[in-house]
Amino acid sequence: MMKTADPTLIFLGLVGVLYFLIAGVTLKRRGFREWAVDLLGLYFVLSFFLTLGQVLSRLGWLAFLADDVLARVPLYGLLLLSLLFLHLNRSFLRLEGAGWSWWALGVAWIAAVVVLNENLLALPQVLWAGKGWSIQRQGIGFSALVFGWGIFMGGATLLTARAYRRTQQPLHRNRITYWSLALGLTIASAALLFAGREPLDSGFHLLGTLIAAYVVLTYRLPDVRQMARRTVSYLIITLLTVIIYTAGFLLMEYVFQSVPGYSPLLVGATMALILAILFDPLLGLVQRLVNRLISGAGYDPRRMLREYSMSISNILHLERLAMVAVGLISEAMGSQRGALFVVHYEKGGKDGSGYFRLRGVTGRGEDLSPGVLSFESPVANYLRLKNRPLTQYDIDLLPRFRETSPAERAWLANLDMDVYVPIYAKGEWIGLLALGPKASGDRYFDDDLVLLSTLADQTAVALKNARLFGDLKIQNVENERLNKELTAANRELARLDQAKSDFIDIASHELRTPLTQVYGCTDILSEMIKDGSLTPDTGLQLTQGIRKAGRRLKEIVDIMFDVSQLDTETLVLNASLTSVASIVSMAVGVWATALEERKQTLTVEGLEDLPLITADGRRLKQVFSHLIQNAIKYTPDGGRIQITGHLLDGGMLSQDQTIEVVVADTGIGIAPDDWERIFEKFYRVGDIMSHSTGKTKFKGAGPGLGLTIARGIVEAHGGRVWAESPGHDERTCPGSEFHVILPVQPRCMESAGSETFVAAVRADTGSDQPLLVS
Ligand code: ADP
Repeated sequence: MMKTADPTLIFLGLVGVLYFLIAGVTLKRRGFREWAVDLLGLYFVLSFFLTLGQVLSRLGWLAFLADDVLARVPLYGLLLLSLLFLHLNRSFLRLEGAGWSWWALGVAWIAAVVVLNENLLALPQVLWAGKGWSIQRQGIGFSALVFGWGIFMGGATLLTARAYRRTQQPLHRNRITYWSLALGLTIASAALLFAGREPLDSGFHLLGTLIAAYVVLTYRLPDVRQMARRTVSYLIITLLTVIIYTAGFLLMEYVFQSVPGYSPLLVGATMALILAILFDPLLGLVQRLVNRLISGAGYDPRRMLREYSMSISNILHLERLAMVAVGLISEAMGSQRGALFVVHYEKGGKDGSGYFRLRGVTGRGEDLSPGVLSFESPVANYLRLKNRPLTQYDIDLLPRFRETSPAERAWLANLDMDVYVPIYAKGEWIGLLALGPKASGDRYFDDDLVLLSTLADQTAVALKNARLFGDLKIQNVENERLNKELTAANRELARLDQAKSDFIDIASHELRTPLTQVYGCTDILSEMIKDGSLTPDTGLQLTQGIRKAGRRLKEIVDIMFDVSQLDTETLVLNASLTSVASIVSMAVGVWATALEERKQTLTVEGLEDLPLITADGRRLKQVFSHLIQNAIKYTPDGGRIQITGHLLDGGMLSQDQTIEVVVADTGIGIAPDDWERIFEKFYRVGDIMSHSTGKTKFKGAGPGLGLTIARGIVEAHGGRVWAESPGHDERTCPGSEFHVILPVQPRCMESAGSETFVAAVRADTGSDQPLLVS
């Protein structure tokens, strides 16, 4: 006996065939957005098998399975499908990573549900029984299934809602709107299945899956908002047509009723004719009205173009050009923001290939981070060659932009613009107009993009001029900088020149005295020899005078040589492990007689306990000798000089340890203004004879060069030296303190050990003080 065809069976059969076909098509189209397409294929395959199962069970071919198992299989399928849907959702939204935790949770959950429902652990039927209530194993199993499904679909819903909220891009939002529809239908289908409304659930599921496939596989989706707007326009126009027709008809009937030969047919035809003529302009009007009402923006392209080219034609200033151009366009199109980028091609990036440097000007004083697009980058390729706007949506989704580097992608994403319109001058890409999302939430329609291209063409000349103007300004700034450098170099030359003449001055002044002495002595000597009046005593006296003058000459030459080494930064130090105590004691030894003559007491404290330091002992002796000499010189007879030393802890690292030696006296002191100046070349405070009570002639003192040399030597060791005169008062003798800080192990000498090395020393220079020669 022939069975009557079961419509549900036929329906399910058709659904199954559809899944099968689409699974095939989907898997063939892999390569578009691979992971999403793979998942989609899998989704279809699973849906196909589930439908096949339903068909077979209806045909009774699965009778060998127990009824309850047969009833549960679709539910397991549903749970698996929801897990797949969640992942499909993730890859559709282009979320980072593969979501392994979701996979793990999903698989574990499904396994647990199957174990519970199929009772693989042989649990009792009633898991828990309380007073008047009990927990059934099957109840738990079913709840876990529904709950798992809820988690996966809930997760998908949350992710979708979040992505919608986060993106401002209307095209992305449009895509997500479609996806939400697929999501809604899929959820509804599951709800229908739980409610046992078969085969309606299969229909919903099919529809949801088809929409999901459409969204994943199609790049340009019809604009939902625009469709809604069109529908509203058509509804309004239909309504209007009916109203006009009826009103016109009634009016004509009323007017022409009494006219002989009146025919309602004729009136109807006339009204139809009038409406046919009116329909088109009326539709345009209604559409414009609806657009303006909904999106709040609207413009007349011709007027806009005229206004635009008039406004920007004479602008030379880039900021102003950006302000006017972006301002006008934003106002017309309702864009929230925009910027004008100046594009410069530069040869030779890191890998030798060229790149484009994009500098953004908003015209509102905002600073946009400059961008770099490599010459080979797909985005740059498009912008420099295709005379067409590019949308951020394209960059995000189109396979041709997939190779865009993460840095370029990040920069573009950071700009948060919707559309980029290239500007060319003589075929060369020179600028980019970027516009942010419209305030209305609309995308940039094709008409907008055409107008934007034309506006970009209009901007080309103005932009080129502004760029030239900007380049000139930059050149100007560079020239000014070079000029400043030149002036500084000139000043330095003048300083060196001054230093040179100072030297000549010192030479002439300082050398003259001993030289005259030499000449004088030798003259007397020769005269006395000639007339035979030379006694051995006088001869000895005269040769001693010549010797003293010769020694002075040598000292002066030495000092000048030191200063010239400091000037040319070529002071050579011989480093070795040295004891500061012995250096100071040697330096003190030099001045023992002078101290005695001046009845001054000199005490040394705390130097013995200091660690050995790596330094040039001879040079350090020179430093301390000079400080002691000064102390003697500027302290009245009977005064005190105290040298103290202590270790400064440089922290845990012994390498950073330093020692401090202070040479203090009870002399005339130094005014705070001079604390630094006395280290400058040739600087001396006032007339020393008015201060010093000294009668002793000291050797070694230069005309204001001693402290300059001392500082040069200390700094070459990586140390510091400075002067203080606490409680300085002109009338009293407050005394001076000279602090010398020296590193125990100077970094510059770490590898040198005891070898000779050249220290780069920058001496204090540039004093224009007049020379005071002692
Ligand atoms: P000079 O070789 O002429 O002494 P310095 O460079 O050693 O030159 O010193 C520069 C100036 O610093 C001196 O002219 C003096 O005025 C001042 N000065 C140096 N040491 C002391 C000191 N211990 N007390 C007071 N003034 C000092």
